[in-house]
Amino acid sequence: MTTLPPLREVIARHGLSASKALGQNFLFDEQLLDRIAAIPGSLDGKDVLEVGPGPGGLTRALLRAGANVTAIEMDRRCLPALAELAEAFPGKLKVIEGDALKIDPKTLFAGEYHILSNLPYNVGTALFTGWLSGEAWPPQWASLTLMFQEEVARRIVAEPDTSAYGRLAVLAQWRSKAKLAMKVHRSAFTPPPKVMSAIVHVVPREAPEGVSMRVLERVTEGAFGQRRKMLRQSLKGVPGALDALEALGIDAQRRAETLSVAEFVSVAKALTKA
Ligand code: SAM
Repeated sequence: MTTLPPLREVIARHGLSASKALGQNFLFDEQLLDRIAAIPGSLDGKDVLEVGPGPGGLTRALLRAGANVTAIEMDRRCLPALAELAEAFPGKLKVIEGDALKIDPKTLFAGEYHILSNLPYNVGTALFTGWLSGEAWPPQWASLTLMFQEEVARRIVAEPDTSAYGRLAVLAQWRSKAKLAMKVHRSAFTPPPKVMSAIVHVVPREAPEGVSMRVLERVTEGAFGQRRKMLRQSLKGVPGALDALEALGIDAQRRAETLSVAEFVSVAKALTKA
């Protein structure tokens, strides 16, 4: 196997001081990185999209796992270090300089691919919701393995009747299975962020037919916009929602956080049809 220089040396040699503006918190522990790369199962010979490779810690782990990696990095200071990595794994790493928010990953792969990323916190949720919102379902990606602030990770996997349950949980869970795969202590990063992190693993589920995501969002926006109020109050502004609740036998005196994802989906489905 190719011997690579320690990541700290790569960073020092290329002058890659972490930029706060770019949400840079690097991971150096190669064993931890190998464990993260193993979360989606074997990646040997699989296509992988990595967002924000930075100096390439997770990228190395993905390459060691045998993946064909396409990486999108915004910080051009990282490109020479990534070019060295590409040389060490000929034909296995393609680096695109750019903003992942502006690149549709479907344009990068002919078939199925997995997404892994130690996401920049400031863009993580936007990328995640974007990947969940494609009209075509199941999507072309086979899994997402993403680092979030632990608080955001908990909101993604939250169950009803908990304070973390809200719009993000409903959006994530109506068409995917999301689980908390690993907690990562803040001290694992350089520099350490203020809060703890956690990795969420997401695989698509079959989306219920006849539901418009926009309608579902309108319903959850209304319901959780006033989460302490009863639905009959919080959903007043969503045309047809109160009739839909009645038709479905959902008590309008309940509050948003008591509704299951399936119940939200059934309301959205009724409104999509109406
Ligand atoms: N993957 C590396 C690691 O685990 O050590 C770096 C992770 S660091 C939290 C996030 C990386 O994403 C940085 O390298 C940053 O430059 C990059 N980045 C930030 N915003 C981005 C964007 N919109 N598109 C692509 N890369 C971005």
